[in-house]
Amino acid sequence: MAGAYLDNNATTRVDPRVVEAMLPCFTECYGNAASSHGPGAAAARAVRGARQQVQALLGAASEHDVAFTSGATESIHWALQAALELRPGRDEVVVSAVEHPVVLATCAHLARREGLTVRTVGVDGRGRLDLAAYRRVLTERTALASMMWANNETGTVFEVVSLAALAHEVGALFHTDAVQAAGRVPLRLQGTPIDLLSLSGHKLHGPKGVGALYARSGLRLPPLFRGGRQERGRRAGTENVPGIVGLGRAAALALEHLDEEATRVRALRDQLEASLLARLEGCAVEGDTASRLGNTSCLTFEGVDGEELLAGLDRAGVAASSGSACASGQPEPSHVLRAMRVPPARLGGALRLSLSRDSRPDDAARVLEVLPPLVLALRAGRVTPPPPARAEEGVSA
Ligand code: PLP
Repeated sequence: MAGAYLDNNATTRVDPRVVEAMLPCFTECYGNAASSHGPGAAAARAVRGARQQVQALLGAASEHDVAFTSGATESIHWALQAALELRPGRDEVVVSAVEHPVVLATCAHLARREGLTVRTVGVDGRGRLDLAAYRRVLTERTALASMMWANNETGTVFEVVSLAALAHEVGALFHTDAVQAAGRVPLRLQGTPIDLLSLSGHKLHGPKGVGALYARSGLRLPPLFRGGRQERGRRAGTENVPGIVGLGRAAALALEHLDEEATRVRALRDQLEASLLARLEGCAVEGDTASRLGNTSCLTFEGVDGEELLAGLDRAGVAASSGSACASGQPEPSHVLRAMRVPPARLGGALRLSLSRDSRPDDAARVLEVLPPLVLALRAGRVTPPPPARAEEGVSA
């Protein structure tokens, strides 16, 4: 049996139809989209087509609501900075404790540089936002609330439309990190109070190094980069036409496959989870099982070290992810699971399996073949794995 890739929340395989759409942009449609001659105009048309495809995925009112970026990390930086500029005099931002490190670190940096106060709202044991606390911290000092649409570790989905409406009640802007939600759940932004939204191409079978920031019609998004007139003067720099075209095609395909994510992928994930729970004691599903992405399974195993589990799975050809970020070579339990107050016995033994439309029953079968005996062997101290090759320090995907 071949290897199984179950780390689609880290990144997805680029759909061959996306590659096909991108290739002519390197050698045929290679003009600079800002040039006024024919090849430039052809590139500009390709960029416009992609913008409309992303608009459709978002269900946005206008193609002008979409600005292309180098990925969600850039989009999030732009959104947070923009919100502070758009709400001068307000000196607080509100985030959840389970946001991606991009949001948390950027807010912490802005707090140091601009003297902002960051109000962090906790979650319960299932990863659900403490709504009462959220209401309490929203005040007339709040410039922005940033709440993720779906959590990258547990898949827990927040009710972002209602959260945005509450932020508007105090005159604050609302941003959502929809990196894991885009292409997995319908977004339908038009008419919602969501002001800003970030996404990344490589999480939806598109290329790496390209993403988008949505800013609702009527919001005067301040520039991120100054210079050229690209992105309506808001993000100077020659457009990454192949990447943008790839993101556009990926968005169109994601829209076509949305039902499959909700049905086939979800059913495969549910079967896999149920089979694992039936075979192993001391194993729990973390996150809000009533409101969760269909592709994500965050599991914890008592008496097992998550890093050793991951290394054992890797040796057996199963690519997954642990619920930890490695800092200075010392794996730290994830801030998400800590915020959920997962008991210490399970905290160190976290495993994230994330599926996609590429996932097949064979992938689940491979996990079922390898994981239960591995967990038992680790618990019995029968596995002495070699030190795992470390990814870059502190990276969380
Ligand atoms: N937000 C979430 C929820 C993510 O999962 C990721 C990537 O793992 C990011 C933001 C950052 O995305 P990128 O690395 O593509 O900029």
